Amino acid sequence: MCVNAISVWRNVAKVWLVVLCLVVLTSCSSVNHMKTLRMFPSPNFNERKYPVSVLVLHYTAILTCEESLVRLCDATNEAGRVSAHYLVDRDGSIYNLVDESKRAWHAGVGSWAGMNAINDCSIGIEIVNAGLTADGKREPFPDAQIDAVIKLCKDIQSRYPIKYVLGHSDVAPQRKQDPGEAFPWKKLAEVGIGVWTDNFAEPKKSVAEMLAGIGYDVSDIDKATIAFQRHWHPEAITDGATNTAGRVAAVWQLIRNNREMK
Ligand SMILES: [Zn+2]
Repeated sequence: MCVNAISVWRNVAKVWLVVLCLVVLTSCSSVNHMKTLRMFPSPNFNERKYPVSVLVLHYTAILTCEESLVRLCDATNEAGRVSAHYLVDRDGSIYNLVDESKRAWHAGVGSWAGMNAINDCSIGIEIVNAGLTADGKREPFPDAQIDAVIKLCKDIQSRYPIKYVLGHSDVAPQRKQDPGEAFPWKKLAEVGIGVWTDNFAEPKKSVAEMLAGIGYDVSDIDKATIAFQRHWHPEAITDGATNTAGRVAAVWQLIRNNREMK
C-alpha cells in the first residue's frame, strides 16, 4: 500500500471514529447550560495569558462537520495543530472543543487595535462552511446555523466583557478570508453582537488612518481594505459597489462614538 493510500485510510478511520463518538455523545448532549451543546474535547490548547475580551468567528473551509472535528482535534497533523472553543454545524448543533478558560489555537499570527496575542484574549468559534464552492461562489450560511451562532455569542457576551466581535480576516487580513463576505454580520449586529452601519460618511482622514483607528493592521493597506469590505461593505466584493472610503468613515465614526459613550 502506498503512503497516500495509508494516509487516506487513516483519515477514513478517523472520520468513522468521530461518527462513533458523535453517536455516543449525542445521547448526553445536555451536559452544559446550553441544550444543544455537545462536548467534544480537543487536545490542542494551552494556558491563556489575558482575560477574554474578543470573539473571533471563522469558517472551517472543510466540507463536513465530521471532517472539521477531526482536523480541530488532531494532535499529529503535519500542517499544524489547530482548534477552536466551539464548532457550529450547518444544522445548528454546537460542539465545545476547548474550555473557555483555556487558549484555543484558532487565530494564529494576527493583531487588532494593537493587540497581538489574539488567541490569549479571545474565544474562537468555527462555523462549518465550505467557503468558496466549486463554482467559485460563497456557500450561504443556513438560518439554523446562524441562529445557533447568535445564541452562542449572546451567551458568551453575557459572561465576558466582549469588546470586539471580529472575523478571522479582520485580525489576519494578509492571510485569511473567513468567515467571508457571505457571513451575515448585519443580522448579528441587529441583536447586539458587534457593530454595523449601512451609512456612508464624509471621510475626514485617510482610509489608512481610519482603518487603523477601527483596529486593522494597515501594514498592507490593500489587504486591510479588502478585509474591511468582507465585514462591513460586502457589496463591494459581491457587486463591485463603490465608496468603501465612505463606509470606512461611517464605521470609524460609529466605533469612535461607542468608545466615547463607555
Ligand atoms: Zn479562521
